[in-house]
Amino acid sequence: MFKAIRIDKAEKSTTAALTRFDEAELMEGDVTVEVEWSTLNYKDGLAVTGKAPVVRRFPMIAGIDFAGTVEQSSHPQWKAGDKVICNGWGMGETHLGAYAEKARVKGDWLVRLPEGMSTREAMAIGTAGYTAMLSVLALEKHGLTPKHGPIVVTGAAGGVGSVATAVLSKLGYHVIASTGRLSEADYLKGLGAAEVIDRSELSGPAKPLAKERWAGGIDSVGSTTLANLLSMTKYGGAIAACGLAAGMDLPSSVAPFILRAVCLLGIDSVMCPIGLRKAAWSRLASDLDRTKLAEITHEIGLDEVIGAGAKILAGQVRGRIVVKIR
Ligand code: NDP
Repeated sequence: MFKAIRIDKAEKSTTAALTRFDEAELMEGDVTVEVEWSTLNYKDGLAVTGKAPVVRRFPMIAGIDFAGTVEQSSHPQWKAGDKVICNGWGMGETHLGAYAEKARVKGDWLVRLPEGMSTREAMAIGTAGYTAMLSVLALEKHGLTPKHGPIVVTGAAGGVGSVATAVLSKLGYHVIASTGRLSEADYLKGLGAAEVIDRSELSGPAKPLAKERWAGGIDSVGSTTLANLLSMTKYGGAIAACGLAAGMDLPSSVAPFILRAVCLLGIDSVMCPIGLRKAAWSRLASDLDRTKLAEITHEIGLDEVIGAGAKILAGQVRGRIVVKIR
């Protein structure tokens, strides 16, 4: 038996509780991992509060990402003692997840912990930080460099936004951080933002085209914010869309695409191919300042996850929350 946050189906919604889970109930997989650290992402908030139907198998162990040490493996690539990271692949949704002392997964899902990175640091980055890096990689693949102009980051004080701001500034970009919490302006400037703007500038209905303000952007907000970002992107620029903190809709027009050759780049962390994952973790090892990472990280225990889940949905979490499992 081991400690885990278990989600069960109730009559109208779901229940979440820190309880004990039987190892015999773990799902199929060729690698068993002693989980050391997990993290709290927006999707984890949805799962533990039952606010959206992200859990599709019951009982479920919540938690979409972990870092830890391989305990047992029949996969050729992994042996006991290896340090590994696992993100997504349906963990915490269709496969038993990360808020547990043990996890059993497919070896093909795992990424080796980068040299010099601790399991705690990997989860301080977590799915949010790795998604921020996938977004940076997408902008680079589009051809953007610091000389093309500023990059806007929305939801900047959140997890994806904080890591995106820190990484982009380290890479030499002029970062415009958009936040609903102007009280966090000093925090964002500390991460390297050159400008901090109020998110209300971007949340109203979008014009088809507006004044060109940035060469690119990383958007974790969606809805009218994403529409405004597109309408304000310079000719030939690109926006990486990775989130929906304000909504799933996109009330935009084709004008930015057909009149300014702007590109909308979709970012998915869950089913992202392994090669791109490895590239993202390798770049996180080199391009994210660890001192800044420590500054944006707040640690909680497994017994605090359910309460913190409600806070992340309310937009009250700053930076990243790392969850100590053992
Ligand atoms: P956080 O809650 O840490 O950050 C979200 C931020 O968005 C908040 O801190 C807030 O920033 C801003 N925000 C919240 N509500 C609103 C609103 N109503 N209008 C405008 N801005 C708002 O979450 P994460 O950083 O972990 O995740 C961000 C988004 O990215 C989520 O939607 C999540 O589902 C998505 N995501 C997607 C992934 C993928 O694979 N595509 C992977 C990981 C996350 P501020 O206070 O600065 O305004």
